[in-house]
Amino acid sequence: MVDRVLVTLDGTVRNPDEPLLYADDIGALRGDGVFETVLVRDGKASALELHLARLRRSAQALDLPDPDVAQWRTAVEAAVKEWGSDREGVLRMIVTRGRDGADSRRVGSGELSGPAPDLTGYVLVSAVAERVSKARAEGISVITLTRGISTELATTAPWLLLGAKTLSYATNMAALRFAARQDADDVIFTSTEHRVLEGPRSTVVIQRDKQLLTPPARDGVLPGITQRALFAEAGKAGWDCSYKSLFTADLVTADSVWLLSSITLAARVTTLDGLRMSAPDCAEEIADLVNRGIERAWNIADWS
Ligand SMILES: *Cc1c(COP(=O)(O)O)cnc(C)c1O
Repeated sequence: MVDRVLVTLDGTVRNPDEPLLYADDIGALRGDGVFETVLVRDGKASALELHLARLRRSAQALDLPDPDVAQWRTAVEAAVKEWGSDREGVLRMIVTRGRDGADSRRVGSGELSGPAPDLTGYVLVSAVAERVSKARAEGISVITLTRGISTELATTAPWLLLGAKTLSYATNMAALRFAARQDADDVIFTSTEHRVLEGPRSTVVIQRDKQLLTPPARDGVLPGITQRALFAEAGKAGWDCSYKSLFTADLVTADSVWLLSSITLAARVTTLDGLRMSAPDCAEEIADLVNRGIERAWNIADWS
């Protein structure tokens, strides 16, 4: 059984134990690129079209060349086939700005040798982390941490790339390590106005009675695919789903708080800043709605 699968954008299945990147790849030099993380389940890439659409939007935000969606689809299909259908997997689509100096070298000498010098793209599949099944089954402890910015920056400072899934995740990972040192599993970022933003790798959804709420993209959060799938499914099941700015106080008074993401899917917050949050009667229903929503995500017509 393979433990990793690597497919380059030309559709070639590569040996994942052999080097792939050049030392001057701008993805490595500056974290300048975008990515998607997709759950492989039952031999399929879940909600693939929504992930491809968001990859395009992220690439646009960074002025990267428009991803060739058909090419990505082919590479993903090859990777998923190689991975098989007997277990879940984490599929990453990685795009970087390619090799440093590719532009100037092209100006000087015409065509460059080697493939696609102004873009690096590949698909990597690996095993799902152990924390994931625990988070799904038992929930997670969460602390709130400031992101140190105002929600206004989503519209006034587009260079912060707040709505894009970029490779520059060092601060997100540092926040998770900070949480781990305090025995917390995850983080909810807040703005300087004490508004709820998102997790370092997840979307925040709160539940009150038959209502589901999540912060809107204009507050500077990444539009989540898992949240979107939940809202589509829950809407059909009679839930009132809406996008609304939330304050940290709303977390405490909610009936339940969830972190949603493509790999973990639904993780209920069981402790928030040390405060216990007991499970509501609908906890299982919400987790089921997320599962079903992801299975039917191909039904969600458009991302924009
Ligand atoms: C990936 C990610 C999410 C969750 O999005 P999904 O599409 O549900 O996986 C939310 N916030 C951030 C910062 C992310 O990186």
